[in-house]
Amino acid sequence: MSCQCGLGEVRLNFPQSGRARDMSLGYLYRYAAEAVRQWPAESRPLLDRLCRQVQDAERSMNTAAAIRLQGCLQACQGLCCRNLDLEAVFGVADFTYILATEPSLDSRIAACLQHERPIFTSNCPFLENGAGPCIFPPDLRPEVCITSFCRGDGDLKTEIRRVKTSFWKLGFFLHFKRVPFISRLLARAF
Ligand code: SF4
Repeated sequence: MSCQCGLGEVRLNFPQSGRARDMSLGYLYRYAAEAVRQWPAESRPLLDRLCRQVQDAERSMNTAAAIRLQGCLQACQGLCCRNLDLEAVFGVADFTYILATEPSLDSRIAACLQHERPIFTSNCPFLENGAGPCIFPPDLRPEVCITSFCRGDGDLKTEIRRVKTSFWKLGFFLHFKRVPFISRLLARAF
């Protein structure tokens, strides 16, 4: 599990295929970075719109969870960003969201993943200097990070649902990005 305190749950990580896939975060990051770089001009506005929806949802979450996050920062100090199943936290949609919204983070992410030891790395590589806080701004966090609260989330259900729905839409679009016909349909639906 991880949380959004930035100092430290479970996703569908595509791409996947019948072949064994590279399990590293580095692979997911490189896939997303290349996709963002090569994104076709005709569907880029939709990508940007979906990323804005994610960011708006994350901002609402940060506002609604402000008091709880104070507790995370003061009491836990990033405990939940350590000893993670990292593959369960990060997916292509997360890296795509971050890179499409804030391309300047590209080199920082690459640097953090330079010495990644897939399978055996358990502390999040995006903790500043290995200690924290998170290198990502509060409104640019992976879905799992921003929707996980170890002390309960009863009063945040609406915000959590909004974040998850916006990431789901982004992921759905990414999944069908090779199919222009579906992209056009989604542009109208989303
Ligand atoms: S990206 Fe890593 S450091 Fe940042 S909140 Fe998520 S688990 Fe913590």
